[in-house]
Amino acid sequence: MLTSEKASSSVISEGRLSMESFETESARRGRQLADLYHRYHIDTEEVDDVQSLPIRFLVEIGKVGLAKYIFKEIIHYKGNAEVILSRPCTYGVFSGPVGGFSPRPHLCVGCLRCTIQHPEFVKVLPNPERLSLGDSYTTHGHIAAIDEEAKKGMVPVRGQGYRGRFGGPGFDGMLTDMSEIVRPSRDGIHGRELIGTSVDIGSKPMHLCFDEKGEIIGNTPKMFNIQVPFIFDIPPGDLGTEKLIRVIDSTSKEIDSLACVTSSDVERMAIDSANIIPVLSIDEAEKSSNFPNARLIQLDGWDSSAVDTARSVSDAMIGVRIKFEEGWQPKLDSAVNHGVEVIHLLADLHGRGEDGQFVTELFKEAHLRLIEQGRRDLVTLIGAGGIIGADHVPKSIISGLDAVALDLPVLFALQGRSAGSLVNRAGVIGNLPKKMDEGWAKQRLTNLCGSWRDQLLEILGAMGIREVRRLRGEFGRSMIVEHLEDEAFEGIAGYVGGGN
Ligand code: SF4
Repeated sequence: MLTSEKASSSVISEGRLSMESFETESARRGRQLADLYHRYHIDTEEVDDVQSLPIRFLVEIGKVGLAKYIFKEIIHYKGNAEVILSRPCTYGVFSGPVGGFSPRPHLCVGCLRCTIQHPEFVKVLPNPERLSLGDSYTTHGHIAAIDEEAKKGMVPVRGQGYRGRFGGPGFDGMLTDMSEIVRPSRDGIHGRELIGTSVDIGSKPMHLCFDEKGEIIGNTPKMFNIQVPFIFDIPPGDLGTEKLIRVIDSTSKEIDSLACVTSSDVERMAIDSANIIPVLSIDEAEKSSNFPNARLIQLDGWDSSAVDTARSVSDAMIGVRIKFEEGWQPKLDSAVNHGVEVIHLLADLHGRGEDGQFVTELFKEAHLRLIEQGRRDLVTLIGAGGIIGADHVPKSIISGLDAVALDLPVLFALQGRSAGSLVNRAGVIGNLPKKMDEGWAKQRLTNLCGSWRDQLLEILGAMGIREVRRLRGEFGRSMIVEHLEDEAFEGIAGYVGGGN
């Protein structure tokens, strides 16, 4: 009896031991698996300026007024140096060796404390050189924001609240719906929650078909994945230098995105690879065979026979670029009828189509058109034109796009200046910094992408949306300022409406 009890207790303890070792082993394997998992992240790192923007404010001091003031203070405070030498500016504008006689305006943040305290001899004025950057659409404010995002790779935070207009033309006419109720599900930036920013490029059938054995038949998804809903467009105007193309090529590889490059540049620079989209004119469709590594090739314009030619010589997906010009809708329909998987829609650099409509309306029209036809998922819509701020990415996606293409932000991220048009692509004349180092430029562009992705995560988190693919066409999560104003003020004497 004793012997059998001993035996059974030894079996139980062996059982416990083996259970413990099983648990330990399974925990060890779990840890190993967890360590293998790599959450997508863009590595940002602050980089120095090589061509700083003009300073924001000019600080003008009346030297006679300042001297009189100091003289009065010496008498009043009986030579108390601590009081006499105290400065009204906590940002150090007057903290140089000779104080206010030689101010340091690059430190000024425009708080206006000095002008309120000493209006008789201090003036703080906006710097006209800074105000002259950009144009009526791509304002100096956009350029400064891009510059800061590309420098630091962070979400710009002022700590002074939002000081701009609530509403305005273009993308400013759309507000996004961010609810406090969903806040617990946020924090996609710091890693507590996963919020996906990857998007599918290509075509998915509207439904799957199976045979009687349960095997899939008919069309299957034909697509690949990129990690962010933005790609780099062909550099506009004269920006497409070898150096810049090398920078967008290496940055798109780094962040797992795509870069559109003209086919001649791809061949000349021998950069055919999975992240490059060679763009060919429709007359050159047969040259698609020259890019065996491309996953997507674009034809500049819609022509069914050119698409057939390209397909006959290349295994890559063939996309088409369609401008928002008269007759773009039937071109879109025909391209989708023809099985084109990716359509790249182009507005001018102010985000307007030929008829003057803004891209939010144009993207919406393209998206709803395909929905009404019951075939939205058959095609990926990429859009370009007027996207020059981080918030323009989610607003374009809400308007119906899958992804956006970046043009001018690349110029400003690299501290370039434009001497030409900021409306027509062909008219852009860019001056990139003379001493532009490619490593520096790649890091700046990577920083911009990291900052814009983080701002996208902020919006998705605040909306409680777990992945950017679900944001596509979510008009209900946006509000149009004009509609809100009509709702609130229509019928009140003096209200004109129409955003005026
Ligand atoms: S405006 Fe503010 S930051 Fe600028 S100089 Fe005056 S006190 Fe300093």
